Amino acid sequence: MIIVGLTGGIGSGKTTIGKFFKSMGIPVYIADKEAKDLMKRSKVIRRKLVKLFGEKAYVGDELNRSYLSSKIFADEALLSKMNAIVHPKVGAHFKRWLKKQDAPYIIKEAAIIFENGLEGQYDVIITVVADEDLRIGRVVKRDNSSIDRVKAIINNQLSDDEKIKKSDFIIENNDLDTAKKQTEEIHQLLLQRTA
Ligand code: ATP
Repeated sequence: MIIVGLTGGIGSGKTTIGKFFKSMGIPVYIADKEAKDLMKRSKVIRRKLVKLFGEKAYVGDELNRSYLSSKIFADEALLSKMNAIVHPKVGAHFKRWLKKQDAPYIIKEAAIIFENGLEGQYDVIITVVADEDLRIGRVVKRDNSSIDRVKAIINNQLSDDEKIKKSDFIIENNDLDTAKKQTEEIHQLLLQRTA
């Protein structure tokens, strides 16, 4: 089974492109979504996160996301510790999911691939790019974030130029029609590769 990584900066449109692949019958695993889900469901993760962040890490059954992101944003070491708790569980969950799939290839959407040197986990990597002002506008609208906050996140991520150099395919998502067409072309190429 070919594992295709789908990455890109904040607001580039990874999830949107993932839906295009899904509509063509390709299984899509969204690592960030599964991580959030496991942080909510797994008692082991909860215990470890409470130890790391304190009782405020959860409000009832829900993860206190705004509290965690405010903590992590200012402290990279804390982010690494959180990742060390969550990533292995997501990795194991992905492996179990992968075994159940029956398709020529699967898509794993992950915001972070190159940043953590995880390229080796993928056979093919697709990066979604879009102009920065569009990305900022989309995220401000979607999350009600401030422009400065989105810009700070973008500045913290690897630049598109660096990602492009390391990718097998690029999808340009400034407008949906172009992005959809490019997604379909890549899908055909991947099908040929797996035939
Ligand atoms: P994040 O890294 O923040 O999870 P993402 O890369 O997965 O983001 P999406 O969630 O797919 O990006 O897109 C961000 C927002 O922009 C969403 O509200 C989505 O509907 C919208 N969007 C995506 N692509 C386009 C586009 N081409 N035109 C207009 N809006 C778009």
